[in-house]
Amino acid sequence: MSQIQFTRNEQPKAKPDANHLGFGKYFTDHMLVMDYTEDQGWHDLQIVPYGPISLDPSAMVFHYGQEVFEGMKAYKTADGRISLFRPDMNLKRLNASCERISIPQVDPEALMEGIVELVSVDREWIPEGDDTSLYLRPFIIATEPCLGVRAAKEYKLMVILSPVGSYYPEGIHPVSIYVEDEYVRAVRGGTGMAKTSGNYASGIKAQEIAKLEGFSQVLWLDGVEKKYIEEVGSMNVFFKIGGEVITPELSGSILAGVTRDSAIALLRSWGLPVTERKLSVAELFQAARDGKLEEAFGTGTAAVISPIGTMKWGDEQISIAGGDTGEWSRKLYEAITGIQKGLLDDPFGWRQIIL
Ligand SMILES: *Cc1c(COP(=O)(O)O)cnc(C)c1O
Repeated sequence: MSQIQFTRNEQPKAKPDANHLGFGKYFTDHMLVMDYTEDQGWHDLQIVPYGPISLDPSAMVFHYGQEVFEGMKAYKTADGRISLFRPDMNLKRLNASCERISIPQVDPEALMEGIVELVSVDREWIPEGDDTSLYLRPFIIATEPCLGVRAAKEYKLMVILSPVGSYYPEGIHPVSIYVEDEYVRAVRGGTGMAKTSGNYASGIKAQEIAKLEGFSQVLWLDGVEKKYIEEVGSMNVFFKIGGEVITPELSGSILAGVTRDSAIALLRSWGLPVTERKLSVAELFQAARDGKLEEAFGTGTAAVISPIGTMKWGDEQISIAGGDTGEWSRKLYEAITGIQKGLLDDPFGWRQIIL
């Protein structure tokens, strides 16, 4: 056991109303911080009161965007324990993102120990209502004060916690999608496989246009031919066509979602064929015209499963599953959230009881 320095917050906040949490609006009383310097490596993991941090205006993250992040959730299970969902995958992906953005690797075990301690300190903040959880946001920023364009020599890793409510206050419900054929999110050889701020900054424009047109999310096409489907919003995407489930293969420009991996495993365990391959938007719309497009949904930690009810590409708009939540979307949502909350068996050993 390493020593984790802990400074208690002597002015704890009032907890928010568990029925109106929304997403990422409230933060707990403590946060985890750890620093990196060239001579000491990652050091000084601490749990301190949540609050503003002070950075030099020349800190490199402000200028060249060297940043990576993660997102996962802690749940109170039916029997009063606290669990995480496949946190090993998040820590592995954090290091894969670090590798791409030239940020030094983090010891996953030390970080996990710190995360467990942090969640333990703020355990009273884990909401108990249906479909609520505590969202964990680990992230790393380049803090070295320097305007040189190169990898920084100093970094700060932080973990902040946010109690979040149901993504769907009135139950799981389908979203409308706009196929974006001008702007792209990522290109082959770019940073699409890394969870890094720049990917989001470059996606906001298209998101705004989709909103103006009355759609809730953007469907991203590949950055080279603008032909093949990549992701939807900040989720991976699945289509059920003629009895087969198809999801874009991990080409390097697509984020390898933990929920994506879990959905593939569950669907296969239920006997549905799942294929990871290139899928063009033309093939998808043809399948819809032929009456073969049965279901579509996005996957991600925040919403878990987000059914797609309608999709617009150019002048053509299609309705999927009659604009309702499809059978398999609902099954997946119930299975994944049931495993997370300890209401269902966990045949793959995904639930990690931490406290
Ligand atoms: C985080 C993220 C996802 C979903 O990953 P999960 O591990 O399932 O939460 C999908 N696409 C993008 C671009 C993301 O950033």
